[in-house]
Amino acid sequence: MTDTNHRKIVIFDTTLRDGEQSPGASMNLAEKMEVAQALVDLGVDVIEAGFPIASPGDFEAVREIANTVRGSVICGLARCRPADIDRAWEALQGAEHPRIHVFLATSAVHREHKLRMGKEEIIQHAVEGVRRAVGYCSNVEFSPEDASRTEMDFLCEVVEAAIDAGATTVNIPDTVGYATPAHMYKVIDTLRNRVPNIDRAVLSVHCHNDLGMAVANSLAAVEAGAGQVECTVNGIGERAGNGSLEEIVMALRTRHDFYQADTRVVSQRLVPTSRLVSSVTGILVQRNKAIVGQNAFAHEAGIHQDGILKEPSTYEIMRPEDVGFAKTDLVLGKHSGRAALADRAKALGYTLSAEQLKEVFEQFKILADKKKEIYDGDIASLIEQQILSVAELWSFDSYEVTTGTGKIPQVRLTIRRGEEEASTTMQCGDGPVDAIFLAIEELTGTFVVCKDFQVHSVTVGKDAQGEVLVEVEHEGRTYRGRGVSTDSVEASAKAFLNAVNRIAAVTR
Ligand SMILES: [Zn+2]
Repeated sequence: MTDTNHRKIVIFDTTLRDGEQSPGASMNLAEKMEVAQALVDLGVDVIEAGFPIASPGDFEAVREIANTVRGSVICGLARCRPADIDRAWEALQGAEHPRIHVFLATSAVHREHKLRMGKEEIIQHAVEGVRRAVGYCSNVEFSPEDASRTEMDFLCEVVEAAIDAGATTVNIPDTVGYATPAHMYKVIDTLRNRVPNIDRAVLSVHCHNDLGMAVANSLAAVEAGAGQVECTVNGIGERAGNGSLEEIVMALRTRHDFYQADTRVVSQRLVPTSRLVSSVTGILVQRNKAIVGQNAFAHEAGIHQDGILKEPSTYEIMRPEDVGFAKTDLVLGKHSGRAALADRAKALGYTLSAEQLKEVFEQFKILADKKKEIYDGDIASLIEQQILSVAELWSFDSYEVTTGTGKIPQVRLTIRRGEEEASTTMQCGDGPVDAIFLAIEELTGTFVVCKDFQVHSVTVGKDAQGEVLVEVEHEGRTYRGRGVSTDSVEASAKAFLNAVNRIAAVTR
């Protein structure tokens, strides 16, 4: 990039922190590590790995990512409290490039009802928080929470004080998704014009999608001069979610003529990363989702198809291969070798170790015996099951069910916990899937309320693999599980066990 007018926008990904706060999106350590590595490969500048003081699991994940993941700045969140900041640094100190992110609410409604602090006190706390963080690490970000509802004069004062105290990035969060594009532009523009030391820090935005404008607001902030955008893969996050990383990145790239700005993101990794995040969180990507949805590049109208065939740019502003959709859905089968599988895995965006490839290839052979044609979707789900099963406490072994109309099912289920095998035979349930769920509850001693149960096919055809997604509630928290098999009862058992494993990972 030789263009000197060309600004580099810092992409700050918070999939592992704000994204993980979406109901049911909790990830275990192995899954967080996998996502963190995928974010590095995607070219994300900053990874917010978690909120270390929130729970031992969060602390562990931030520390593990800080100690092992290289190539991006690793960030941890903390309130402006000494214990929070100390704990964040404890988790982050092994990072190649650590960043501490401190936040404190500044809007009137938060000052009065949540914090019960006056303006002076807020500034004092913010300054003390930033200083404490600066004492540990030179890369410090400060966020005035609920900034978009904070009085402009006071926001300017807080931002100036935080920069004076040593904050190198100041983030403007639209915590409740209240801003509109013109409003956000004005906030950033005013800060740039009125805060005297603003040149000493990078201005950032963090937008929520409550009114469906998170991406538009983020772009308006960039237009007004923001140098960092906080976002998540697939736009997951609290409530309606955060600004979607793939949409922000592709908007800047596609409309470079207008924004004169770009990011370091390797756009060809967007679809594989989206697929990975969807699979570990169990939050499906809607078909018509911009950039990464299954229909994002599908043209149905005849007049469009005709145009595309003559000249793609007639109806396409981006090429599917630029965001990581494989050009052809190449079909593999029984006689395909390991090299062909490795090739396909690479094209789909996965990097497999020799050991992982060996495992996936064995599973591929088993699947090829059951299913004639193996599509990209099948291969992706085999690989994901392989790379993500590491931390599973319980794994599926086998089942048998006899049932029929008007009969109570008879189920025999065997599951494993490491080397140990656990089996039960029961007569119970409303149908085979219900019977399997009851048997799993009995064997694992984990009792849940099933909130949602969905079956999809991974690819096309009568012998397609079924993907089952379950959502369960356990002690007031929501957990998701996913299972894939050519047999939908087996897929259900795997999905349910996956959810039980997530519960075990949190409550152990
Ligand atoms: Zn947020």
